[in-house]
Order: sequence, then C-alpha cells, then structure tokens
Amino acid sequence: MSQTLSPNVRVTQLTEQLNEYNYQYYVLDNPTVPDAEYDRLIRELQQLESEHPELTSPQSPTQRVGGEALTAFSQITHLKPMLSLDNAFDDDEMQDFVRKISEKVVSKTQAYCCEPKLDGLAVSLLYEQGQLVRAATRGDGLVGEDITVNVKTIAAIPLTLRGNDFPDQIEIRGEVFMPFANFDKLNQRALENNEKPFANPRNAAAGSLRQLDSKITAQRGLSFYAYSTGVVNGERAAMANSHFEQLQQLKMWGVPVCPEIQQVDSLEKMIAYYQDILTRRASLPYEIDGVVNKLDSIEGQQTMGFVAKAPRWAIAYKFPAQEELTQLLDVEFQVGRTGAITPVARLAPVFVGGVTVSNATLHNRDEIERLGVKIGDHVVIRRAGDVIPQIVSVVMAKRDESVTNIEFPERCPVCDSEVERIEGEAVARCSGGLFCAAQRKEAIKHFSSRKALDIDGLGDKLVDQLVDAELIQTPADIFSLDKERLLTLERMGEKKADKLLNAVEQAKHTTFAKFLYCLGIREVGEATAANLSQHYQTLDKVATASTESLQRVDDVGEIVAKHIFYFFKQSHNQEVVDALLGAGVNWAEVHQRSEDELPLKGQTWVITGTLNQMKRDEAKAKIAQLGAKVAGSVSKNTTTLVAGEKAGSKLTKAQDLGVNVLDETGLIELLTQYE
Ligand code: NAD
Repeated sequence: MSQTLSPNVRVTQLTEQLNEYNYQYYVLDNPTVPDAEYDRLIRELQQLESEHPELTSPQSPTQRVGGEALTAFSQITHLKPMLSLDNAFDDDEMQDFVRKISEKVVSKTQAYCCEPKLDGLAVSLLYEQGQLVRAATRGDGLVGEDITVNVKTIAAIPLTLRGNDFPDQIEIRGEVFMPFANFDKLNQRALENNEKPFANPRNAAAGSLRQLDSKITAQRGLSFYAYSTGVVNGERAAMANSHFEQLQQLKMWGVPVCPEIQQVDSLEKMIAYYQDILTRRASLPYEIDGVVNKLDSIEGQQTMGFVAKAPRWAIAYKFPAQEELTQLLDVEFQVGRTGAITPVARLAPVFVGGVTVSNATLHNRDEIERLGVKIGDHVVIRRAGDVIPQIVSVVMAKRDESVTNIEFPERCPVCDSEVERIEGEAVARCSGGLFCAAQRKEAIKHFSSRKALDIDGLGDKLVDQLVDAELIQTPADIFSLDKERLLTLERMGEKKADKLLNAVEQAKHTTFAKFLYCLGIREVGEATAANLSQHYQTLDKVATASTESLQRVDDVGEIVAKHIFYFFKQSHNQEVVDALLGAGVNWAEVHQRSEDELPLKGQTWVITGTLNQMKRDEAKAKIAQLGAKVAGSVSKNTTTLVAGEKAGSKLTKAQDLGVNVLDETGLIELLTQYE
C-alpha cells in the first residue's frame, strides 16, 4: 500500500498509526500489535523523513520519547531528560555505532559496557542524603508520573542507601520488571478469575507500577535493576569516570545491578556478548529483548552527546522478534494419543523467534473463546525459545467481514467416532479409544500391560513395531498374529515369537474385571473395573447401562459414567470387543460375593504415604474387593487409614480423630487373611 501513496500522505498515515500504537502501549499498557510491527513502521517513517526532511515535524513519533504521563498521578519534571535508545538490528549497524564513536572519541582502548536490555519500564529514583525521596516514570522523557508510593513497595529498591559515601543528591535510573515466575502466577490468577491476562511481562510491570492503589503494586512481585545515574550533586562523594565502575558504586550502596553486565574492549567482544546472551535468553529469569551497549567512559559519553531522543554513546542491539503478526488461514483438528482433540492453527508463514512458523497450537475451545479468534483474522503469534508457537491475541482493528467462526467437529477427524465433550472440561475427546488410529498404540500398550491382560513379552517397543509394520491395528488383532508374520519383524527370532504366541494364548483366560480394565476406558482404573464387574457381572449389562445406572456403582461419578457410556455407544469399539470375544477371550462367571466375603462392607478406608510392596491402585482395588469404599480424605467417618512411608497431614488428622491406622505390613497381613 505504502508504495502507491505520496510521501506526505504516507507520513501522515504512519504518524497517526504510530501515535495510536504509542498510546496503547505507553498509556494503556495494552499494545495491539507486536513490537516488530511497530519497529517496521517507525523505520519506514524514519526513512521517509530522511529522504524528505521537510516532512519531519517535532511532533513526529521519531522525535518523541515514550508516551505522555497519566494525569491520574501527579507529574514530575525530570531534572535531566530521560531518553530512549537507538536500535541496531544487525552486526553492520553495530559496526556503524562503533565507527562513529571512534571518529569522535580518541582513546587507546575503547571500553564498552554490555548489558541485557531488560523488558520492563524505566524509572528514576531520587535519593537525598541517602533517602529515597521521589520516584518517577519516564513519561514523555521530560515529564513523568510520580509513583513514589508504589515504588516503595518494591523490595529490591532500597529506601535508604548503604554506607555513607554516596553523593548528597543522586538520581538512579533503572528498569522495573516482572520476573517470569511472578508474571506466570499473575496471568494464571487472571485466567482463573476470568480476567484478561497481560500480553507480556513488560505490560504487566507497567500496569502493576501504575496502580492508584499501592497495595496492588505490592502484591505483584516487581523487581528492579539499576543501569545508570542521572543528576548527581554535592561534595560528599564523586562518581567514577567509567559507567561500569559507577554501577559497582551503586551496588556498594545497596542498589541491585544486573549480574550479567560486562565490560569489553572491542566490537567483536560486544557481538560475542550478544550471541551468548541470546543463547541464554530462555534460561534467564526475566524477559530481555536485546543487549544495550554503552561507551564506558563518562567523558566520552559527554563528547558524543545526543540526537533527538537518544544518546549517541549507547545502542540497543535488539534480538530477533519473538512476536510477529500473521493471518490465521484455517484451523485443523488433531487427535492425540489419548484421544484429546486439539485445534491447530494454520498460519500464513512468518519468521519469528528465529524460524519460519506456519502452525500454532490453539489448545482447546476455552482458549479459542478467550482469544475471540476467527478464521481469516490477523493474529499476533509468539515463539519464545523452544516453546510451541502460540497465538497471543487478535488484532481486532484489522478484522473484516470475510472472517468465519471456528467450528469444532462433532466426529473424530481420524476415525469418525463421536466426540465426547464433558461440561466443565476444556478438552474434547474422541470416544473411539479401541479403534481410532491416533490412539492405537496407547490402547494396545494398555491392553497388554501387566494389570490388564498381562501379555508377557508384548512391551511398548514391540507394540510400536507391530503397529508400524501394520501387523496389528486393534487389540483384537493380537490374537490373530502368527509366527510367519512375526518373524518378518526386526530383532524377532523363533524363540521370542514362540514365547509371545504362547503368552497371547494364555492371556485369553482372564477375569471380567481385568477385561473391563484392559479396554482402556478413560478413568476406569482397576478398582472401578472391579466394582463394575461386581455390580453388573456380565458384559452385556455394562455395555447397555445408562449413565444413571452406572452412577450407582461404587466409585463411579457423573464423568466416569459418561466415559463408560460413550465408549460402548461407539460401534467401532463394540466391533473390537466382539472381535476379542470371537478370538476366544473369556473369563469365569463373576462370582457374586456374599456378605461373608465382603468383610469390610460399610467401611471407608483412606490410603496415604508411599507403599513399597504394591502400587497404590493395587491396594485400593484389593481393599475395594473386600467391600470397603476407598476415599481421598480423612474424616470422622473414616474406618481405617493405611499410612505408608512419609505419611503427612492425613496421618496427623487420623490420629487426632482417633481413626484406626494400619501400616503397609498390617495391610498385607489383613489382605492375605482373606485371599
Ligand atoms: P526501548 O525500550 O527500545 O529502549 C529504551 C529503554 O530501554 C529505556 O527507556 C529503558 O527502559 C530500557 N532499558 C532496558 N535495559 C536498559 C539498560 N541496560 N540501559 C538502558 N536502558 C535500558 O525504547 P522505548 O522508547 O522504551 O520503546 C520503544 C520500543 O517500544 C519500540 O522499539 C517498540 O519495540 C516498542 N513499542 C511498541 C509499541 C507497540 O504497539 N507494540 C508501541 C510503542 C513502542
């Protein structure tokens, strides 16, 4: 679009657009486009202004720092303007920066100070006689907001300087930022309360610092690193002539300084520092968006001076963008190995976080609703470190009528079984667990596992091999395996094949409870399978039970009842079950236990701590088989608490309530008594 417009129209257009973005970013702490887009537009404007100097106005966003100070706070005129920084985006621009300095500042060794560019917001702290008397935001560089009360809540910022050899009056400048850990917690809480999360730690820091209620600021976990001094007055102490040394002085007075800061003496070392910090970026506990390189000599800095809104002696070497703008072309649905159906965004390819990205996860329906995203929307995507690319937000200003809603499938895109959706659960799932190709391997591994049909020799690796070679597709196919086909597999000898076929033959004889368990119905563990077996006794009855009926079984709530109901409703699953029975899988009739065989009937047991000789599930199933209900928490209704090693609060509670307590040995003795 820009090519066809006359320069002055484009300059006006860019100015309006950038002013709007500045307002959203600096005043509302709520940007709508990624920084990379802002930086592109500002560069375009700079370019046009340098080609047509007559179009440059003092009001241009290229000439002004930041945004205006909010009138909600009283305003503070800075004793010395707080400027921004010029940017470099590649090594050549860094070389230019160094060349300009060496042309003006003559010295034998040119020292530079390299610092991470913290992504928070600049503040000025004024100390008089060592006491913090005033704190301000940068604002438009000349006038900032008085945020003294809020700043005093930040634990990292000393209210009093240490020692007594500091200047009478000293202005310390630095960045207030929110470490990732606190940012994640804050956003987690926002999501839980159905509030809008912050786009990034910078906005979270700015939003938290500019609160009218300082109690809120105090809860947000903000931190601070100093990176320079402003006005310094008084006879009491002199500041060093090196920027790096000045930072050491600040540290001595108790002001935190970023530990990554280094002094170097060449362009090559500055570039090496940049590369090093870039590779470590994801492991730092705070967000940075580049490296700031500063001429170390304070005298040299004075010689270099300033341009409109930035010093000539410092430059921000920016990292490649982690957030970019692109378009959502379509949404496809993928089925995971447990049947979870995940929407995946297909994007117009875009270079972000160092790679070209054309897919991003949309997680689930809740996430789509939260974002309010539609197909055709322009979206901000983020790729940080090795994290899977995510859609961060929708640029509503760019939406047009062609966008369409994202429709969730009613049937599994892989196997066409019904999609099961449970109220209150974000995830939708394919209910064709035994049949669905996406879930095949998991289903078969579960089926042959020790607690299910216990097919000796059919481990995870062999399942992978068998499925990949298309020798089996469903668990039922295991029973039609023959030696000839098995021998076509790698690492499969006669002996191993015979052993496996023998184990398969033996696995046909099982119990009804194990059979129900081996089907891999969601949330039907050993104990639930045993309860279902006791309650219904025949497969027919379980398969045709209504959800109401299922909920009458011990341990089966509404959600588990739905899982069981949906499972048997799928004809695909039924076919596999029939094939299993057809292959000869069988069990002895379920023996309805009499009252005498349910010695623990009417009792409620709880298990806590670590058991060494059996898994907790196993213990739970065995106790349930004797008629007891196994609950999760101790109350006055608890009959017995099984306390394994390192039992904690549940044991204390049971003792307080006078509940009977058994250790693991006691439990085993009791179980053997009834075997
Ligand atoms: P800047 O953030 O690029 O650089 C200057 C700031 O860097 C300083 O004010 C200071 O706060 C910070 N800084 C961090 N570590 C530092 C260190 N060690 N030494 C000195 N300063 C350090 O400049 P800016 O003027 O604050 O912001 C401009 C940038 O903000 C743009 O390039 C763009 O990326 C972003 N922005 C985005 C939007 C948007 O809509 N997305 C709008 C406006 C601005």
